[in-house]
Amino acid sequence: MHSSLSNPYGWLQKSLGTIHRANWYRQVKTINSLPGAIIELEGRKLINFASNDYLGLAGDRRLIAAATKAIQEYGTGSTGSRLLSGHRELHRNLEIAIADWKQTEAALVFSSGYLANLGTISALVGQKDLILADQYNHSSLKNGAKLSSAKVIEYLHCNMADLHHKIVTYPSQYRRCLIVTDSVFSMDGDICPLPELLSIAKAFDCMTLVDEAHATGVLGDTGAGCVEYFHCSNYPLIQMGTLSKALGSLGGYVAGSNDLIDFLRNRAATWIYTTGLSPGDTAAAIAAIEVIRNEPEKIRQLWDNINYLKQELPSENLLPSESSIICLGLDSPETALNQSEKLQEAGIFAPAIRPPTVPTSRIRLSVMATHEKEHLEQLVKAFC
Ligand SMILES: *Cc1c(COP(=O)(O)O)cnc(C)c1O
Repeated sequence: MHSSLSNPYGWLQKSLGTIHRANWYRQVKTINSLPGAIIELEGRKLINFASNDYLGLAGDRRLIAAATKAIQEYGTGSTGSRLLSGHRELHRNLEIAIADWKQTEAALVFSSGYLANLGTISALVGQKDLILADQYNHSSLKNGAKLSSAKVIEYLHCNMADLHHKIVTYPSQYRRCLIVTDSVFSMDGDICPLPELLSIAKAFDCMTLVDEAHATGVLGDTGAGCVEYFHCSNYPLIQMGTLSKALGSLGGYVAGSNDLIDFLRNRAATWIYTTGLSPGDTAAAIAAIEVIRNEPEKIRQLWDNINYLKQELPSENLLPSESSIICLGLDSPETALNQSEKLQEAGIFAPAIRPPTVPTSRIRLSVMATHEKEHLEQLVKAFC
C-alpha cells in the first residue's frame, strides 16, 4: 500500500493504454436486425461473415415461433436451479433430443457452453489428476482445467506424436487422466484427428472430452458433429457443445453415458448452482434440432458454400480448414485491421482476429448455409 490518496483503480487506465498501443483494443459493434446472411450494422447493410449461426437458424420463423409459444406457456424465466424450481418438461425433451442425435445414453443442458466446460471438467478431475490439452483449446476448456486444480499439460496443436510423448512421460503418478480438445478449432477452423486421439486415450486409459461447439450442425451425416463425422459415436466419450452456434439459441450441453450425466447432475457446480435454461431458449434449441434433422439440405448448402470459398479465395493466405470457419492469415494486427476495414467498405462484415486471442493475426470468415452465390462472389472480389 502506498499513499492513501492514490487511486486503487488508476492501473486500469494504464493497462488500457497498453492494450491500445499494441492494437489489441476491442469494442462491441451494434447490429440492428434479425440475424442472417445480411445484417444491419451501425446503419449499414452488410454481408455477414462473422456469425456462428452457420445454418441461419437464429432468425428462422420456426425457432421464433417455438420460443414464443414456450414463453407464452411457461414465462420468460425458469425461476430457479434445475434441482429446485427450474426444471421443466421442455428441458427433458431437449436432453432426449440431444442424446438421440449424438447417439449417447443421456445429455444435460447448461446455461451456456462455457459453463458446461467449466462445470464438467472441474467435476471430473481434481488435484490428483492430469489433464492433457491441445494448446489451441477454447478459453472455456482452459479455464475449466484451471478451475479443476488438476495438473495441466498442453500438447502441440493437433500433434498426436506429442500427445503420445507427453502421456508416456507423465501420467503414472496421477489418479485419473482426461484428454481435452476442441473438435473444430474455433479460431482456425481445422479439426482434431479424433480417431488417432481416441486410440491413444484407449491405450492409456484416459477419459476424453471433445468440444463440438463449431462442429454441431456442420460436420457428420446428420450434423451431429466431428464424432459422427469420424464414426466414433460408439466410443465412450464425453461430448460437449453449445446451443448458441448452429442451433441458433443459447445454452450448452454435455452428452455421454447415463453414469456421466447422473454424476454431473450431482457434482457440476455450474449446473447445480445456476438458473435453469429459459423456456424460450430451450424450445428454440428443440426446434433447431428438429429442423436440422428433417432438412439435411441445409448442411449440404453450407458445404457447397464452404467449398466454393476455399476454391476461390487467395490460396496463399488460406489457413488449413475443414469446417465453416475459414481464416486468411495476415502478417500483423494492423494489416488484419486494415483488411477488415477494407472489407467493410466493400459491404462485408468479417472480423480481424488478433493476439492475444490467437498467436498470429487473421481475417476470420464464418460461412453460412444462407449465404447466396452473390454474397460469396462479392467476398471473393473484395479479396482480389
Ligand atoms: C463458443 C464456444 C464455447 C462456449 O459456448 P457458449 O454457449 O457460447 O458459451 C465453448 N467452446 C468452444 C470451442 C466455443 O467456440
